[in-house]
Amino acid sequence: MRRLDRTGIAPPADWEARLRRNLPDRDAFFARAAELEALDLNDPVRRKGFSAFAPAVLKKTSKGRAFPLLWGAAKQALAAMSHHKCAYCESPINAERSGHVEHFRPKSLFPSLCYDWENYFLSCNGCNGQKSDKWPAQGNYVRPDQGDPAARFLFSRDGGIAAVPGDLEAENTIRDLGLDRSWLCRWRRLAMGSILDDIEGTLSLLAEAPGLEESITRLIEKQIARITGNPALPYSTALLQCVRQALEQTRARQMGRSG
Ligand SMILES: [Zn+2]
Repeated sequence: MRRLDRTGIAPPADWEARLRRNLPDRDAFFARAAELEALDLNDPVRRKGFSAFAPAVLKKTSKGRAFPLLWGAAKQALAAMSHHKCAYCESPINAERSGHVEHFRPKSLFPSLCYDWENYFLSCNGCNGQKSDKWPAQGNYVRPDQGDPAARFLFSRDGGIAAVPGDLEAENTIRDLGLDRSWLCRWRRLAMGSILDDIEGTLSLLAEAPGLEESITRLIEKQIARITGNPALPYSTALLQCVRQALEQTRARQMGRSG
């Protein structure tokens, strides 16, 4: 998960007008939303969701009462924010077809944030489907636009992912979004593979020619800068971590040899 910058991510000029047009009774909607959100997060009534709690304030559709689907208007701006990748797993996505506007705090439990742009990220089918209306009974999830999300996950060369020990939010995020699902780990491994092979190949030269350490380190630093400077690169957080690990391991081996 790469840190995303929300600067400039704002609703279209007619957002409020669309909202008024589509919510049958806007005031009643937000009043009922506040009532639901006053309940404890783990209250069974709240956990049943807003559609069960206050169906009358939702829009009539052929499939029953539902939240008016306005957030599609956010897709392109959100896709730009996350460099056309899933905000959570960094898989490449196409905002036109495969990207979903994902409510960070699910609308079923936090209906007052249903039309709040700060609550939107673009996500892939996999993360969006796994997260669905989940919200942890304890703690939170890692927000891609706050703090240093990359530092809260540990990636391995085989595509695996783990939470930094003791980071409950990172654990919740991996579990409920399925960031360790097997096909995602496989894609991460494949995407990183050839780049890591090249870097490890370069580093292995050090064993034969320790005198080249300075030039080789400079080469690797250049590759790291290239990855950092390309935010659209899929799985760039995992790749950066694995490259740095390879560099550190080589340095440790060199130190061991020279010591
Ligand atoms: Zn994803």
